[in-house]
Amino acid sequence: MNIQTRSRAQHPALQYEAKAFVYCPICTHTVEGIVVATGKTAKVKPGQKCSRCSAALDPAYIMRMDRAA
Ligand SMILES: [Zn+2]
Repeated sequence: MNIQTRSRAQHPALQYEAKAFVYCPICTHTVEGIVVATGKTAKVKPGQKCSRCSAALDPAYIMRMDRAA
């Protein structure tokens, strides 16, 4: 039996960046971007541009986080 214990997953104040798919409301496409995750919440990293329409990705929605670090 394989029982995975993930006790190390709790890092309350740890902030890290991850790749994610974000939804650009300007061109209504999902593009890759960097998000900053803090605890259980994640926000799109400011200052990025949409790869399709070059608009700021600040108001983009996070669709899916890429778990691979
Ligand atoms: Zn866009």
